[in-house]
Amino acid sequence: MSATSSFPFGRRPPFCPAPDCDSHADPGAWRFKKKGFFFRKATPQRIQRYICRCCGRNFSSQTFSVSYWLRRPELLRPLFFRILGCSALRQIAAEFGVSHATVQHQVERLGRHCLLYHEALRPRTPTEPLALDGFRTLESGHYWPFDLNLLVGRSHYVYGFNEAELRRSGTMRPGQRRKRERLEARFGRPPPQATRAAIAELVGRIVPEGADAEIDSDAHRAYPVAIRAVRNRRIHHVTTPSTAARTASNPLFAVNLADLLLRHTGANHKRETIAFSKRRQNACYRGAIWGVWRNYIKSVSERRRDAPPAVKLGVIARRQGVEEVLRERLFPWRAELGGWLERCYFGRIPTRSIPNGRGHTRRYAI
Ligand SMILES: [Zn+2]
Repeated sequence: MSATSSFPFGRRPPFCPAPDCDSHADPGAWRFKKKGFFFRKATPQRIQRYICRCCGRNFSSQTFSVSYWLRRPELLRPLFFRILGCSALRQIAAEFGVSHATVQHQVERLGRHCLLYHEALRPRTPTEPLALDGFRTLESGHYWPFDLNLLVGRSHYVYGFNEAELRRSGTMRPGQRRKRERLEARFGRPPPQATRAAIAELVGRIVPEGADAEIDSDAHRAYPVAIRAVRNRRIHHVTTPSTAARTASNPLFAVNLADLLLRHTGANHKRETIAFSKRRQNACYRGAIWGVWRNYIKSVSERRRDAPPAVKLGVIARRQGVEEVLRERLFPWRAELGGWLERCYFGRIPTRSIPNGRGHTRRYAI
């Protein structure tokens, strides 16, 4: 069964896709009725329609596919690899003969799916030391740097990430300094506490209340304060100076390697590129795709061709292919998102310089 064909669950729809349907209270008693077909250009062309006997909502076999509503469903799988193969959106668009907006749209779809995919599988209590680091990149130009904060286990499993906007710092010419002032007067200045708040959110999300954890990090000033702010956990915070040799015996090796891989695979994170993310939100969607690839698809070591981190950690039994990752649509209302994850899923991570950026408006499309 291909990633784009319908019914990953078998021959029948597994539940009513409407989030507010009363049938969710008693899934065993749920009934539906077939209601003809509709035809589309992509294969399979004939799509079975259904009606829920409980709430009367219409849906189809496509409702349960990751490629619902897409005119070019066959692009999802190659896009997954192109986005990790350092291609820029317009280069991908040229290869497939579509507009860059189509590529953008489908990358967003993949990103949302990967966020849910990882949340469904992620161990709720990490049993290994975690390494924390901020991956420095930028959105919409050099005046708007931000960190992708990563929490990675010694197994190289990426437990989670989030983002924190930063003020442009470092050496600037007088003209650049004036431009920064102009931009900050117009769009506002990134809050100095953004990193602290983001780290507290990330650690609080990954380390549950009552749990013990060891977190290794560099000597970033915001980290100890942020970690102390996470209450009701016993967290042992160990700092390693960033001058320490970046070898496999460094406690930060896993997160250093993750940083390297992020920059190596994503065109948006290259130095001196014009393919940088125009919005932080999109970098997050791409980060989610990268995380699923890193955890469930890619070997820990490319040279040894060994199992991915999630297999070594016992989260899944064997390496996943992209077809398996994309086999079934995941619904946000079944995932109990909240906080940063929910904002990220629905495209609500703001970009200062693009205040009217579009979010994911169709909240629970069926
Ligand atoms: Zn229903």
